[in-house]
Amino acid sequence: MITIDGSEGEGGGQMVRNSCALSLVTGEPFRISNIRAKRSKPGLMRQHVTAVEAACVISGSECSGLTVGASELEFRPGRVTPGEYRCAVGTAGSTGLVLQTVLMPLILAEGPSRLILEGGTHNMLAPPFDFIERTFLPVINRMGPSVSARIVRHGFYPRGGGRIEIDITPALLAPIDCIERGEQLGVSGQAVFTGLPFEIPERMLARARRDLSDWPDSAFAVRELPADQGPGVILMLEAQYANVTEVVSGFGQLGVPAERLAKTSAARMKGYIEASAFAGPYLADQLVLPFVLAGGGSLTTVKPSQHTLTAIDIAKRFTGRRIELTRQDSGEHLLTV
Ligand code: ATP
Repeated sequence: MITIDGSEGEGGGQMVRNSCALSLVTGEPFRISNIRAKRSKPGLMRQHVTAVEAACVISGSECSGLTVGASELEFRPGRVTPGEYRCAVGTAGSTGLVLQTVLMPLILAEGPSRLILEGGTHNMLAPPFDFIERTFLPVINRMGPSVSARIVRHGFYPRGGGRIEIDITPALLAPIDCIERGEQLGVSGQAVFTGLPFEIPERMLARARRDLSDWPDSAFAVRELPADQGPGVILMLEAQYANVTEVVSGFGQLGVPAERLAKTSAARMKGYIEASAFAGPYLADQLVLPFVLAGGGSLTTVKPSQHTLTAIDIAKRFTGRRIELTRQDSGEHLLTV
């Protein structure tokens, strides 16, 4: 049994999700202690419990210690059964993080699957739907599988109630190289909102427009959702290249001025555009698993985050693969499996 100290490295929920995914694919059971020890409220939160439950449901795995607040659990993987699964993440827990847990096992399963995930679709500190659809899945689809995602309803913190649907046609993951972004094809900035005064998304866009002054005015738009999907607001800045699309998000928060949120998002987008690496920090940590499971491949990324380093450590533990991360003269980092 693989034993993991959840207080090492990044010390957060991603270690639990990645361990479940890797356990299902490799058949290796694991025990994790000190779960989320580096967070102010350590232990499993509702959304982590749901993610592990989803892993159990698709595979008949056994898991002991799975309760909110638990700091230790043991997971014995069963056999992944493809099919249609519905999973409701209580409150506004992130649907994207549940997807992170079960996607790779279902991609490598013996038949197609359909996932209906209900909860938050645009949560802070989690991949928003648009990132999953336009940044993450296109890379996965280049590796062989066919995964499509649809958003039926948006769900914002704290109300949730969103719904996304994912169709998965499995395939073995082929190693790919993600080195160059390719030619820049376009940019866009969208403030999506509902249940809040119109001036909030407008102020966000005004600030983003000011900071991204070389983007055309026509690139920016406000989109209002039906009132029952809110309240909530998110700013999404997108840069499309021939080989990759980056989506930078600013999640509306009570007490954080719209301008400040837009300023931070614009600075992050500028940072990405000025660099030349293929993957931004979030895409990089999310591609560690598929690349390791493909058994090869390479990608360039900006400075690796603690999440990326921890994802690499966990993947090494389960697969024994060699994963290298080297700094290039350009300042980019090259990840090779
Ligand atoms: P914890 O509360 O323990 O930090 P968590 O389970 O909510 O845990 P993390 O372990 O921090 O989450 O993992 C968050 C995941 O969400 C990472 O894979 C990260 O790449 C992704 N993520 C976070 N913010 C964004 C974003 N703005 N865009 C895309 N992906 C994101």
